[in-house]
Amino acid sequence: MSTPKPHHVPSTGWIEVVTGCMFSGKTEELIRRLVRASIAKQQVVVFKPAVDVRYAETEVVTHTGARLPCFPVATASDIEAKVGDAKVIGVDEAQFFGPELVEVCNRLADGGRRVIVAGLDQDFLGRPFEPMPQLLAVAEYITKNLAICMVCGGPADRSQRLVARDQRVLLGSEHVYEARCRACWNPHHFDDPQDTLPISG
Ligand SMILES: [Zn+2]
Repeated sequence: MSTPKPHHVPSTGWIEVVTGCMFSGKTEELIRRLVRASIAKQQVVVFKPAVDVRYAETEVVTHTGARLPCFPVATASDIEAKVGDAKVIGVDEAQFFGPELVEVCNRLADGGRRVIVAGLDQDFLGRPFEPMPQLLAVAEYITKNLAICMVCGGPADRSQRLVARDQRVLLGSEHVYEARCRACWNPHHFDDPQDTLPISG
């Protein structure tokens, strides 16, 4: 009697999306998942959009001491070029990549990789922030995190821009954005229209 062969499990990949507004903990959740994979000795790499390409290569170091290689990349196709043999791939600030990111994530998942993407689902006017809607459509797993409304303390899923700038991409965190609930969010109200914070993007 022959020994039965172990059940063959095809090495399939998938896409996970972690989304929500500013201050909802998307990056924290992304890093948490990547660190878990790293503890299991899986090869992990993280990509973020290169706002400043002077830093060619950096690392994400967590408070538990896990070190994850992190590459700033200019385009989504650079992700494929630099992914190497990594089994688990993280992409942060995915809303700053173009529609090409969807094809890249699909190809990586088709090729057997686990792809974890974090990004804002809405822009400061509450509009779906491409390519996040497309990524949400093709992902196997979706997590939408809520923040806490900085006005009323309720559950928040909107990013309130505090400075009068109309471009879609305006980098910043505190003093530039607040997490707000549906009732407290007003995209046409700015705290300080005379504000002179430096503009990026
Ligand atoms: Zn509120």
